[in-house]
Amino acid sequence: MKVIGTLKHERVGIMGGSFNPIHLGHLVAAQEVLTDLGLSRIIFVPANRNPFKDGSEYADSFHRYIMCVIATSPNPDFEVSPVEIDRSEPSYTVETLKYFRNELGGETDLYFITGADVVREMKKWKHIREFSPLCKIVAVTRPHVDNYREEVEFFEGIELSVTFLRIPALSISGDDIRQRIREGRSIKYLVPESIELYIRKTGLYKRIQDEGQNGLTTGNVGDVQ
Ligand code: ATP
Ligand code: MG
Repeated sequence: MKVIGTLKHERVGIMGGSFNPIHLGHLVAAQEVLTDLGLSRIIFVPANRNPFKDGSEYADSFHRYIMCVIATSPNPDFEVSPVEIDRSEPSYTVETLKYFRNELGGETDLYFITGADVVREMKKWKHIREFSPLCKIVAVTRPHVDNYREEVEFFEGIELSVTFLRIPALSISGDDIRQRIREGRSIKYLVPESIELYIRKTGLYKRIQDEGQNGLTTGNVGDVQ
């Protein structure tokens, strides 16, 4: 996808994730970052899935992309990029950041948005030391993940810029939503109504295949998915 319409020193947020499915926790986090840091837009980037390792719990990239488009379409400041799902296999986040750096130009300030759970894992990412010239990192709070001290020290150690942002606590996760669907429980008010309808219409997450359950995790952005 060609990203167009950049402004000088535009501030753009990149929000990666499996979005399996996208839910209100993602949307609130993105909106809070947009407003608090004065960004002009947020680009949601659903991750690719490895076709050989996944069980049906990890919905097809096509469906996750479509759900992101549906959920973000009412918001003029939100966009969705297929850059990761267009690749033939899962890729490193740093490749995506380089892609946007290239597409948007050196004048644009990039903000990579993560939840507190993911920022905790980032120290293990293979290319984390390459992030610094590419973007700033924004870590939003997430219920049940409270220890930021370690991350701050770690990121200072490798000179990465991390902004921690406290956002309204929404104890919503893709994992819980998928479990509710399997158990026939409601997901009303946890996802936009359009996503609830899409999931019902497509039958997503209802069946779990035995194979692949030991494969990829269902969630985190980043390296080696
Ligand atoms: P799963 O349970 O499948 O991992 P998830 O809810 O964690 O799903 P992801 O697609 O893994 O969703 O998350 C994408 C990004 O959004 C991550 O950086 C994650 O930390 C963040 N995020 C997800 N849910 C919330 C939430 N409720 N509050 C704050 N951040 C969130
Ligand atoms: Mg996750």
